[in-house]
Amino acid sequence: MIITLKKNAPQNEIEHLHQALEDRGVEIHAIEGTDFNVWGLVGDTAELDERDILANECVANVQRVSAPYKLANRMFHPDDTVVDVAGVKIGGKEPIVVMGGPCSIEGKDQAVRIAKEVKAAGGRIFRGGAYKPRTSPYSFQGLGYEGILDMVEARKETGLPIVSELMSADKIDEFVENVDLVQIGARNMQNFDLLKAVGHINKPILLKRGMSATIEDWIMSAEYIMSSGNPNVILCERGIRTFEKYTRNTMDLAVIPIIKEKTHLPIVIDPSHATGDWKYVEADALAAIAAGADGLIIEVHDHPDQAWSDGAQSLKPEKFARLIYKARRVAAAVDRDL
Ligand code: PEP
Ligand code: MN
Repeated sequence: MIITLKKNAPQNEIEHLHQALEDRGVEIHAIEGTDFNVWGLVGDTAELDERDILANECVANVQRVSAPYKLANRMFHPDDTVVDVAGVKIGGKEPIVVMGGPCSIEGKDQAVRIAKEVKAAGGRIFRGGAYKPRTSPYSFQGLGYEGILDMVEARKETGLPIVSELMSADKIDEFVENVDLVQIGARNMQNFDLLKAVGHINKPILLKRGMSATIEDWIMSAEYIMSSGNPNVILCERGIRTFEKYTRNTMDLAVIPIIKEKTHLPIVIDPSHATGDWKYVEADALAAIAAGADGLIIEVHDHPDQAWSDGAQSLKPEKFARLIYKARRVAAAVDRDL
């Protein structure tokens, strides 16, 4: 961290800040300039907040040199993290994992039927929502625990591990008992109490990017989970809000190489929520694989016109199968299996 001090600042203010920073355990290297004085801070600056330092009137500017995240940072953990989801490995050089299933679980028959289609197409994890974060309180809110139990049935029938969204910490025991991969949705990416709570459990977490979150916000949310004791975090890009209206969200493909550079965590892409339209899902999915994604999570429904949520962006099973067929060839072109 580099702190620039005003040249004419009162000496007692400067000394006070110097002492306060040393008390936080960092070493200060000072350079005297003609217009400003500069301090280079050496040591663990992750716990220092630039904005708190700026509150000192003697400070002209504060600049971070290293990222504020430690556990997710590739600098301190050069090897790729591989997350094991009930035997399905995601990340590193492992084969690309495709997850598929309906936005909402609508009952046991629907869950089992679609899970079988997902498996037949080459999907390796079954997705489904039982607790749904809907924009309108009048929209279908999910089947709740019954939906989770329907997914458990689907796992029994197919052997596919299951991923579902946890919206509130009071349901954690239910998820620990039944779900293989716990999804934290875009709307809860900065629900810090929920992040800390899933940091204490022994299940991998699929952390979706908030719709208006910067990459650093998102990595800091992963850092919350990891610093609470759970290292098994998979990041999921699902599109961000922009001014564009032809898609539901805007897919940020550049996050894939950026996340790979900055962190060691696996990254999965959700082209369904990113585009909001089944017609564009395949193109974004293939592009994500070409860009280095470790997995895809895709909404699949056998009757999208009757789906209880997100039918417009759901692929019919045969289109999902075709996507996987094409994705295998793109994966081969970038030296990955699928
Ligand atoms: C979902 O996966 O169905 C979902 C609600 O996703 P997101 O949190 O990305 O909107
Ligand atoms: Mn959905």
